Amino acid sequence: LAKIEADRGAYKTQSWDAKPLLAVEAEAGEKDPILNPANRNDQVGTVTWATPETVTAAAGAAKVWDASPEERSRILNKIADLYEARYGELFAILHREAGKMLFDAVAEVREAVDFLRYYANRTAGDPPVGTFVCISPWNFPLAIFTGQIAAALAAGNAVLAKPAEQTPLIGWRAAELMHEAGVPREVLQLLPGAGDVGAAMTSTPGVNGVAFTGSTETARLIHASVAKHLEPGAPLIAETGGLNAMIVDSTALPEQAVAAIVESAFQSAGQRCSALRCLYVQEDIAESFLEMLTGAMEALQIGTPWDVSTDVGPVIDAEAHKDITGYIDAARKDGRILKECAVPSDGYFVPPALIRVKGIGDLEREVFGPVLHVATYKAEKLDRVIDDINGTGYGLTFGLQTRIDDRVQHVSERIEAGNIYVNRNQIGAIVGSQPFGGEGLSGTGPKAGGPLYVDRFRRHTADMSGES
Ligand code: ADP
Repeated sequence: LAKIEADRGAYKTQSWDAKPLLAVEAEAGEKDPILNPANRNDQVGTVTWATPETVTAAAGAAKVWDASPEERSRILNKIADLYEARYGELFAILHREAGKMLFDAVAEVREAVDFLRYYANRTAGDPPVGTFVCISPWNFPLAIFTGQIAAALAAGNAVLAKPAEQTPLIGWRAAELMHEAGVPREVLQLLPGAGDVGAAMTSTPGVNGVAFTGSTETARLIHASVAKHLEPGAPLIAETGGLNAMIVDSTALPEQAVAAIVESAFQSAGQRCSALRCLYVQEDIAESFLEMLTGAMEALQIGTPWDVSTDVGPVIDAEAHKDITGYIDAARKDGRILKECAVPSDGYFVPPALIRVKGIGDLEREVFGPVLHVATYKAEKLDRVIDDINGTGYGLTFGLQTRIDDRVQHVSERIEAGNIYVNRNQIGAIVGSQPFGGEGLSGTGPKAGGPLYVDRFRRHTADMSGES
């Protein structure tokens, strides 16, 4: 910890200036400040945006990576080495730009490094698709950004990468390290921007494939754009949202279940697509169990991500803050709040909240924050609960807490989810041994961090662009 303190401490007041990284001269767009979501007086840096014209210029200058598989592998490993050597700086940007607390920042850098080393071992194979667009979200602004690009580069594609508009600094710093490791400029170009830049990227001639992680709504727009503007059969790899549930039956170990629930619902301020949104507790134990759960919520430390004791940081921006607090306000008016934590008044903090519902069908959408819904169920209605959960159409993560082996078998055979977690928290995945990804409205598959993923970035791959 002392070493982490020293290594990230040097970046506590540093500021970074992100800009497009291109293989061609192009006119720059507007410039904006980037502010810390936990403390609006902390300007973390600035970003100069790309424009739709920049996208056209970059696509024209893009070249597939003609290095040998061995050379690509060496350079991907070199990027991982650079990430590991610069972790103090990467943590500091993740804290101050993305509001990530220390545990999240560590996990994020480790995941990015794992992706790089995993795909570095998978550079041999069929030729690249061509120029791949990689569009990533703000909630894993280093890990997902890096995972998409590393897979595309492992296969030898040219990449046009767009970090989310909320987190351009970490994406820009990561892309700089990729160039420093030896990825040529014309192979990897960075285009910081919002939805308009993303839309230009998925409709520009010369683009041959798209990797996207973000909301289901945006995935639908991209799907339409790819079908309209890109060559028939252009691959679209989409990872989208979830509406994730957990079932706790009367045989569950309460301490274990409560710890798993608190992590799954409130870690990263609930800003994970894998986060637990709806908890089902068997009626017989509900009263005592919910008392334990609200007690554990009481103990959460909510504050600045830089502080090592922080459990829950701010949400990403003003829009998210308004959306989630509005949602909690409405539930409060209806008298459905079972527990609400206290939060600092400065910055975009949202109180972790527990909201009573009849079932997952009451959730109209994925609220992307520290909000957990809870329902109770009668033991004999377990199959109804499973049907309701499957009925959302999403299928990303699912958790089960039970000590009955037959029930594990019964429930996991019926639940339609990409990742099922038994007697543990339901966030987090291990690259290689536990690839991550969803079913239904949650994504196209195959799962990131698995052996089939890189194959989608190669030319022989089957056309799966009809899914979203
Ligand atoms: P989130 O709710 O996580 O912000 P979004 O789907 O809005 O989800 O954003 C994920 C990524 O998609 C971001 O990089 C965003 O800029 C990008 N994006 C948003 N709209 C579009 C679009 N129409 N076309 C392409 N990319 C887009």
